[in-house]
Amino acid sequence: MSSDTQSVISTQALMNFLDESPTPFHAVESLVQRLRPQGFEELKETDSWKLEKGGRYFVSRGGGSLIAWIQNDKPAEQGFRIIGAHTDSPNLRIKPNPNISQQEYWQLGVEEYGGVILASWTDRDLSLAGQVFTANQDSSLQKHLVRFDEPLLRIPLLAIHLNREVNTKGLILNKQTQILPVFSIKQSNDDKQADILREWLGENLHVAPQDILGFDLCLYDVQKSALTGKNKEFLVSSRIDNLFSCFCALTALQGCADEKHRQIPVMACFDHEEIGSMTDHGARSSFLKSVLTRVVQHTHSDSLADYERSMAHSLMISADMAHAVHPSFSDKHDAQHFPHMNQGPVIKVNVKGNYATSGATQSILENLARKEKIPVQRFVSRGDLACGSTIGPYVSGDLGIPTADIGAAMLSMHSIREMCGSHDTEFMIRLMRSFYLHS
Ligand code: ZN
Repeated sequence: MSSDTQSVISTQALMNFLDESPTPFHAVESLVQRLRPQGFEELKETDSWKLEKGGRYFVSRGGGSLIAWIQNDKPAEQGFRIIGAHTDSPNLRIKPNPNISQQEYWQLGVEEYGGVILASWTDRDLSLAGQVFTANQDSSLQKHLVRFDEPLLRIPLLAIHLNREVNTKGLILNKQTQILPVFSIKQSNDDKQADILREWLGENLHVAPQDILGFDLCLYDVQKSALTGKNKEFLVSSRIDNLFSCFCALTALQGCADEKHRQIPVMACFDHEEIGSMTDHGARSSFLKSVLTRVVQHTHSDSLADYERSMAHSLMISADMAHAVHPSFSDKHDAQHFPHMNQGPVIKVNVKGNYATSGATQSILENLARKEKIPVQRFVSRGDLACGSTIGPYVSGDLGIPTADIGAAMLSMHSIREMCGSHDTEFMIRLMRSFYLHS
């Protein structure tokens, strides 16, 4: 198969993954759907584990984080090769008491999750997805993974006649009062105190509204991903940051499942990066450390020293998206570091530690890329602009594992509809697979 054909296949598979994963909970489900047919077996943190050499395993936590790996029998001698990414993306989430009656409308109270470009969420066909928890007859709790697919909600822009400065001063929206999606027009018999969202959810889930006890519900755009550009060289979609990286890590892990690998390849996809990772299953939680510890303990007897030895043998990639240079705003970049779409993975450097890359870890990746003939690019942010960060520094600091921050170049990061290069999927998968097998 030609490399061009493989590139088209990989990007089409990425687009399916993006469309199937409107929330972190669905992203984990999409990962599971792709791991199971390849013989990956689910383990529960509450169970004791029986791990076999060559066994393929995954474990999830909190509904939004998942770790998968392929076991070998010598972690203390050979260590781990970990690729970390995040499953969450900035969005708007429904408040616990969401029903708002204003004028003749029903609107829903929403809260900003992560750093949303609010303007991009206006005048879009929005739907709802997430997890809903209900009480059964016997008082036990049940979790429902839900997505409604059809357009349900809209945050309408104010007409230009009523906001003449929108093009000269920009669109500024109050996060409490002006981003409320419209859900319905009030019916004459509607009670002002009605719990309309729970009533509607109850109808759809076939449960009584009062039995809906909790939810994590996200708004999302129903428009599917697409290829654009004269030569279809761009991919546009919601949640490219950072489902692109989750998908590439997954495909790389699957791609080395039948190959000989000395180290244990690990994929770690975390929820909550966009809000700082400090949650029970975010990148700053015990999740990854706990899994790695159990893998080492299972294999060796002198567990503490063996764990430390395994860490000393390990390497990690923190995979998150990178800022491509914007043709109309190139002054936002350092002139010696202009990442471009379709020119390969970007290695991100920040000497203040916002990225975990060092000269040593950079050279490991550049060496792999050279051997595999994969183009790579280098990025630092301008000295007079704040630099973003990733899960890389937290995880690297916590585990003491040398780490490189890399990502594909993209535009419109944190917009509801982002954009990346359609040829970068295959470059990233190949570099990650090489990292698992040959670093
Ligand atoms: Zn990200």
